[in-house]
Amino acid sequence: MTAQRRPLVAANWKMNGSLASNADWTAAFVARAASLHCDVVVCAPFPYLCTLGRSVAPAELGAQDLSERTAGAFTGDVAGEMLADVGCRWVIVGHSERRQLHGETDAVVAAKAARALQAGLRPIVCVGETLAEREAGRTQEVVRTQLAAVLGAIGEAALARGALAYEPVWAIGTGRNATPRQAQEVHAALRAQVVERDRASAAALRILYGGSVKPANAAELFSQPDIDGGLIGGASLSAADFLAICMAVGT
Ligand code: PEP
Repeated sequence: MTAQRRPLVAANWKMNGSLASNADWTAAFVARAASLHCDVVVCAPFPYLCTLGRSVAPAELGAQDLSERTAGAFTGDVAGEMLADVGCRWVIVGHSERRQLHGETDAVVAAKAARALQAGLRPIVCVGETLAEREAGRTQEVVRTQLAAVLGAIGEAALARGALAYEPVWAIGTGRNATPRQAQEVHAALRAQVVERDRASAAALRILYGGSVKPANAAELFSQPDIDGGLIGGASLSAADFLAICMAVGT
């Protein structure tokens, strides 16, 4: 993390929550959020976005996915404009659970990032390798290909209006985080890939780490020069743990 980029910490609640538990979370978060030194995004399940609205302020609201299409006969899909309409400013695209469980290809992820921007949303674009890919020494190649697809679709300046998240698949929800050194190595390579296109966009781009971030490991991860915050899954379900992670920024 450098002074040049304001840190960003995003909660990914995944398919969790209820009206009652969301209200409890929001009350606990808002009570202590004024003292945070980072930008915060809360990515909630679709049905709760409208109710959450501005209640998570100073955090901004985000969704976890959007359709690559505009309005029309696409049963079950949600358009970016609908997300913007109910107060979202951000949307996650290309999460590994979408790639793996819903067959989202690099081309689909790139199209979703482009749609997000057209709808006025800032995309949080996720990239990351599987355990098999890491063990085969293919980490850099895999994330480079994933990032190249998005850069080709939206360009580096537009990506810098959103954020990039490096999320090694083997670290998501497993309790096994990448070491700060492993994560920094990939973050540096991703930033170097953007430098090849434009140095200013690369310097502005926030690259988040995601994968079993907890209050106990957040500060060390966030202290790395190219780690500009985190995308937090399991630990974001507890407002206290999420706040502790946000407070680890800049420590
Ligand atoms: C995620 O789903 O984006 C994530 C990083 O999950 P967890 O923090 O639970 O590993």
